[in-house]
Amino acid sequence: MQFIQTRGEDANKKEKVSFSEAILDPIASYGGLYVPETFPTLGRDFLEKHLKSDYKTMALDMLDRFEIDIDKEVLREAIDLYDRFDDPNNPVPVVKVKEDLYVSELYHGPTRAFKDMALQPFGAILSDIAQKRGENYLILAATSGDTGPAALETFKDRANVKVACMYPEGGTSDVQRLQMVTEDGKNLKVIGIKGVFDDAQTALKRLLASNRFKEALKEKETKLSAANSVNFGRIIFQIIYHIHSYLELVRKGAVAMGEKVYLNVPSGNFGNALGGYYAWKMGLPVEKIIISSNKNNILTQLIKEGRYDLRNNRVIPTTSPAMDILKSSNVERVLFDLFGAKRTKELMESLEKEHFYELTSDELAKLQECFNADWCDDEEGKRYIKETFEKEKYLMDPHTATCFKSYETCTKEGIKSIVYSTAEWTKFSPVIANALTGEVDTRDIDALRSISKVAGLPIPPMIEALFTKPIVQNTVIEKEEIEEEILKFI
Ligand SMILES: *Cc1c(COP(=O)(O)O)cnc(C)c1O
Repeated sequence: MQFIQTRGEDANKKEKVSFSEAILDPIASYGGLYVPETFPTLGRDFLEKHLKSDYKTMALDMLDRFEIDIDKEVLREAIDLYDRFDDPNNPVPVVKVKEDLYVSELYHGPTRAFKDMALQPFGAILSDIAQKRGENYLILAATSGDTGPAALETFKDRANVKVACMYPEGGTSDVQRLQMVTEDGKNLKVIGIKGVFDDAQTALKRLLASNRFKEALKEKETKLSAANSVNFGRIIFQIIYHIHSYLELVRKGAVAMGEKVYLNVPSGNFGNALGGYYAWKMGLPVEKIIISSNKNNILTQLIKEGRYDLRNNRVIPTTSPAMDILKSSNVERVLFDLFGAKRTKELMESLEKEHFYELTSDELAKLQECFNADWCDDEEGKRYIKETFEKEKYLMDPHTATCFKSYETCTKEGIKSIVYSTAEWTKFSPVIANALTGEVDTRDIDALRSISKVAGLPIPPMIEALFTKPIVQNTVIEKEEIEEEILKFI
């Protein structure tokens, strides 16, 4: 399987690359992205075949059909990392919450957010490629909270890879910060930045563009890579759980084999939703993919009106911060799939230069054949958290809650919905405690104890342990000092 480019090719890049190449250097010609040249068709046979398989067996069969340049043994080891989830036999439990609404819980991994689904296997594969090539890689990450812990956890003590992870000091939850600053792997460096998430991200972009930095890395025989969700090495693992969730509904007798369902995804950078889109393209019976957003509702506007407009938009901080995103990178892959490389290049160039693009009415109709969307503000979100807890005895986090609005506004009766839950309640506890009881906690630990009492749920051991673990990553610096600090670490 070869990978082609969403904006066509310039003279500097190869026309097609292998999976490994697309992973190591994820940015394609003209700033585009890599996508598979063709997709395997799974269809009914595949679903029937795996009705009785466990997650890992189905996953390996699906990966096999992509024919990527990774040894079977390595893929097996990568997929075996799902053994670190709560239930190795079923890393993604699907829970019935309402008559026609099922929640697929993607957060049962080591860092309690859905980033583990892709980053766990991705880390194993990237490290293996680096070792086989005899190369060393530095992964740079800027995080608002969930990607950082998951990236550190997956690369911890892995050969030929180092990670430098920047987070805004004071800009994450206590649990998220502790997950990072208690990481003691020798190949990991965590840097708190005096500033907000945007400062961390801007610093990262500056580093990527800095010649001095690149020269210094070259001297240390280190190459630069990225683990963000534009990397297809993450996307490929995000197709699997959509297929699994559908099979779970069939197993529970909620749908007959072949019956269509909605996939309802709390979206930020669109990696999760893209995985659902590809699953559908490969034959999963899907009625529509519903894109749920918070007040940063640029994707709702795109899907309802065909306009992507950044001109008067600024990121609004919300209680679902992993979705506080305006430039949703993976949308580009859908544009390419629907409209081709020439048009994608045109649209993305317009977005970069004019901060705006508009689809034609034919294009919009095509997009709406696959997608529907709605958004939900923080107050509504808290209401859904409280209501769902009181009526259905189901506890969810503020990202997941955004899907409950679009479930009401975007679905037809009689068609089942799969809502994807992307974080455990432990990661955003002050918001949830506030939704349930009205209390205002400034410390996560108080909120965790209070939710635990109200909901009768134990605090998971890996979260409880964070509060007594020694803090080993003490660096907090001004953004101007980042380059120096990372070079010292290398
Ligand atoms: C990353 C994240 C999202 C957004 O996922 P995308 O794949 O970027 O759309 C939603 N919820 C949580 C909790 C996340 O960590």
